[in-house]
Amino acid sequence: MDIVEIEKGFQETEAKIKKLAEECGNSVEIIRGGGVSDTIHFIGDTRKISEKEGYVKELPGISKIWDVSIPYKNIARVGAGKNGEVVHRSDRIIHIKGLDGLTRTIGNGKHIFIVGPDSPQTLDQTITIAKQAKAIGEKLGILDRIILRGGAFKPRTRPTDWRGMGWEGIDMLDKAKEETGIPYVTEVMDHTIAARVAEHADMIQIGTRNAQDFELLEEVGKTQKPVILKRGFGNESEEWFSAAEYIANQGNLDIILCERGVKTLFIKEGYCRNTPDYNVITHAKKKTILPVIFDPSHVAGDDKIVLQNLLGCLPFKADGSITETIHEESFRKEQKCDAAQALVMDIYEKAVKSILEYEKTIVPLISEIDSYFTQRSKH
Ligand code: PEP
Ligand code: MN
Repeated sequence: MDIVEIEKGFQETEAKIKKLAEECGNSVEIIRGGGVSDTIHFIGDTRKISEKEGYVKELPGISKIWDVSIPYKNIARVGAGKNGEVVHRSDRIIHIKGLDGLTRTIGNGKHIFIVGPDSPQTLDQTITIAKQAKAIGEKLGILDRIILRGGAFKPRTRPTDWRGMGWEGIDMLDKAKEETGIPYVTEVMDHTIAARVAEHADMIQIGTRNAQDFELLEEVGKTQKPVILKRGFGNESEEWFSAAEYIANQGNLDIILCERGVKTLFIKEGYCRNTPDYNVITHAKKKTILPVIFDPSHVAGDDKIVLQNLLGCLPFKADGSITETIHEESFRKEQKCDAAQALVMDIYEKAVKSILEYEKTIVPLISEIDSYFTQRSKH
């Protein structure tokens, strides 16, 4: 039992269903239909509430009960029943409030700028970047669209490589947040520390290497913090959406999908680090209700091509980007992870300006093109 169709005007039944959902650990999403009925979706794991199907069926006003067969039903754009019933769900919009009192909104059609070091390495570096990001936000009037990034716990391919500052890094990010008011996102790799990290971070990232660590996905989901889920570098889109479903199954729909490039045969040729799959952004937005962002840094692997890759995601309507930066060129030789792809903040500022310019001048044209295709599909 995933979706219940209820005739309009049966408030008492609706209240009973809401109460039952709460008792079974589910939240509800109600779609007010244009016709004679509404639909109530149970969000989260529906196994327990499904045992009450007999009771729900007998409540006054219940016209249908659907089981959704799609494996990622909590995040799917279309709720489809086995007997051909269909309901379209609207975009999930995610809000993150900063200590500065500003709310960052992800998924409202405006590009969200997630920016910062690959990893916090020194307090000075972390705070300086946060301040630079704040200055850009203030100067361009988009401080409410800026979020800080930084991985304190680093997944590294080689065990001999530096693995981040750990809790000390979290402490640096906390200080940068206190100093600037900007919320931050940081990666979690170990499910046993998810809850503790969530006490500090405003948002949690699951990296490409752990994109199918199902225990991790569940624990991070349980924190109820917004989660950036990077696409596993070898994952098909449905595997990616199903990974997101592990988070959603915990009742947490605040998930942001992030395309960061996939491994292809071309990578050994060395002209980029990962192959960007821009089209998957469109696909993910069509198949799921979640916002989708783009990571140009891990696609590029080289700061000379980060900007181009970042701008490349705009026509595909990414809801934002996550970009690695460096506070000053001289730090590059000291940076222990992903130094080659870090964009200096001056160039990042130009990227932000280009994106804002794009929103002003090109987005209206793209909307016109969209309406052509929408019209055409009606005929
Ligand atoms: C990162 O964001 O620094 C990172 C490790 O990303 P990914 O998991 O995409 O490689
Ligand atoms: Mn990195």
